[in-house]
Amino acid sequence: MTVINRSGGHLLQLINEILEMSRIEAGRASCDAEDFDLHQLLENLHSLFLMRARDKGLTLTVVMIPDLPRFIRSDQRKLRQILFNLLGNAVKFTRAGTVRIDATGRAGRLELTVVDTGPGIAADDLPRLFQPFMQTQVGQRTGEGSGLGLALSRGFAQVLGGEITVVSQVGQGSTFTLSLPLVVAEKADRQPMPERQVMGLAPGYPPLQILVADDHADSRTLMASLLEAGGCMVTTVGDGAAAVAACRSQRHDLVWMDIDMPALDGLAAAKAIRALPGPPPMIVACTAAAFELDRLHMLANGCDDVLAKPYREDQIFLLMERLLHVRFVWKEARQQ
Ligand code: ADP
Repeated sequence: MTVINRSGGHLLQLINEILEMSRIEAGRASCDAEDFDLHQLLENLHSLFLMRARDKGLTLTVVMIPDLPRFIRSDQRKLRQILFNLLGNAVKFTRAGTVRIDATGRAGRLELTVVDTGPGIAADDLPRLFQPFMQTQVGQRTGEGSGLGLALSRGFAQVLGGEITVVSQVGQGSTFTLSLPLVVAEKADRQPMPERQVMGLAPGYPPLQILVADDHADSRTLMASLLEAGGCMVTTVGDGAAAVAACRSQRHDLVWMDIDMPALDGLAAAKAIRALPGPPPMIVACTAAAFELDRLHMLANGCDDVLAKPYREDQIFLLMERLLHVRFVWKEARQQ
């Protein structure tokens, strides 16, 4: 069951990538430019991959040159997707050492370089690397991926008016450089919500029973401590089977369900929880998946909502207010 679900997830990812690729090839991919916070985008990507890198014993760093502009104008979603693919590959293929993003912006060019100390790429393979479905032996061995990530990334880079180049040496590592025209902006079009802090549940609401299912201990602890600080009663589990068992033995108001988990993945666990007797808890899928179709897939498979990782602290309480019809007491953060 888990295997089928996992394959379903991979298939969906493949469909997403093929759709994006065909849009690029048909010349129908457009640059949806907006002014946004580049520093925040890089920091978010760093925190997204930090856990996976740490699990493998890798050091992951982002180096922004001191005068890197904070606000720029570009297609944020495509830029994020390119860096997500490059970083994902670097972390996936590197066994030991470091993965680093260097970010520089000067003389009208923005350069984002992903450097790894991984297996490297043979000179023979380099010219074909960005072709759709191309995987070197290193890529084929992992049994993961589709060979579309780099083709898509190059396509997106061109839509943004830029390019991706690679320098690599077998046994030493690889360096992928994304170079784009730099358009400096004054501020972000969409203001991030001011960080607000929750003090606890508003008077009159009974304490909430919350289950946190995540196989990463750090994510679990972070989510549990935020919820406890907000006055919730929290149980944590490390896989989908334990989440189902916890819901069988105790009523919960809401489950934060990591999707990619061993033993029983999040969607299979959500389905099993819904099949238990009694009213089911609200189930929120927590995922770093980047495509809209993934979100629809989770909503169609027994999840009431989706929380994109990395999340802001206030988002989890806003979601609970909406789904559980409760109110929290908020303290506005001090203006800086
Ligand atoms: P996928 O990662 O899905 O296989 P990509 O298009 O992202 O597909 O990458 C194509 C291939 O290029 C990978 O399968 C791998 O063989 C090789 N590759 C990409 N990035 C790296 C890297 N950082 N180090 C070594 N090989 C890489």
